[in-house]
Amino acid sequence: MIIIMKNTASQEQIDALKKEFETMGMKIHFSQGMNTTLMGLVGDTTRIDIDKVASLDIVEEVKRIQEPYKKANRKFHPQDTVVDVNGVKIGGGNFQVIAGPCSVETPEQICEVANSVKASGAGLLRGGAFKPRTSPYAFQGLKGEGIRLLLEAKKCTGLPIVTEIMSYEDIDLFEDVDVIQIGARNMQNFELLKRVGRLNKPILLKRGLSSTIEEFLMSAEYIMAEGNENVILCERGIRTFETKTRNTLDLSAVPLLKKLSHLPVIIDPSHATGIPWMVEPMTLAAIAAGADGVMIEVHNDPPKALCDGAQSLRLNQFADLMKKVEKTTAFFKTL
Ligand code: PEP
Ligand code: MN
Repeated sequence: MIIIMKNTASQEQIDALKKEFETMGMKIHFSQGMNTTLMGLVGDTTRIDIDKVASLDIVEEVKRIQEPYKKANRKFHPQDTVVDVNGVKIGGGNFQVIAGPCSVETPEQICEVANSVKASGAGLLRGGAFKPRTSPYAFQGLKGEGIRLLLEAKKCTGLPIVTEIMSYEDIDLFEDVDVIQIGARNMQNFELLKRVGRLNKPILLKRGLSSTIEEFLMSAEYIMAEGNENVILCERGIRTFETKTRNTLDLSAVPLLKKLSHLPVIIDPSHATGIPWMVEPMTLAAIAAGADGVMIEVHNDPPKALCDGAQSLRLNQFADLMKKVEKTTAFFKTL
């Protein structure tokens, strides 16, 4: 249930009402807009007399929310959330490109890729240190050493870094990581979601391989319910009967998620298609669909990559793409 307070309501009156609902066992969340305060009630609201609440002097309007996600719901937070990663903003009209290799491999590799994607205009650097591989015999990532190399690349380029956590046991290694990624395979690892929900760090949450939009938003809700509201949603392709592409990019998820939620939405055309030449058209299509950014795999020597080389862009291909990204975002701003 959402209660829209009148702007004449005093803080004491709002606090008193909050206390009343809390004694009824509700959890209360506030959303503070420019001119309005929204009070979100989570819990069993069936016992609340909606007409009685609506008739209070300090209440403008009361709405019941049908969807099971509350904090992620746009009804509760009408304005776009802008996630601020040390000054690099994602959402609310700020389009960002996150680029880098699938995995961090060597100091030379990450350094070369980081410098190059930065020069091309990327806003954030990605690189996997803990890799969720289908085969236990495949390269599993450099782990702590990978994060250390990413931090060095951050130091020399100034780019904030995004990297995936697979187990909360490793959390100490993530202290200086700017954005923690929860990969598709962990989208419903609820214990992990709750733990990162207690951090004060942006979380990039990827859609599960076979997850519905509602399940995706419920996973974001797990993080937000613990207090961390800096969640970026990433559509990375879903499993369908199609085999020509690695996954099927659900571009319709972009406008749908943005309608249902206030969180920024980005797409990952690399994992969605698995085909480097499809990264460009899908990136431009994502801009047209209203995405807040893209995450693209880029490698300095794709044939030699230890993971996902076949879908990675070369440095010069990424540079060419960025020119089109700039033109396309500028064009859509004029519409
Ligand atoms: C990745 O981004 O490197 C990754 C493993 O992605 P996903 O979880 O979407 O498969
Ligand atoms: Mn990858």
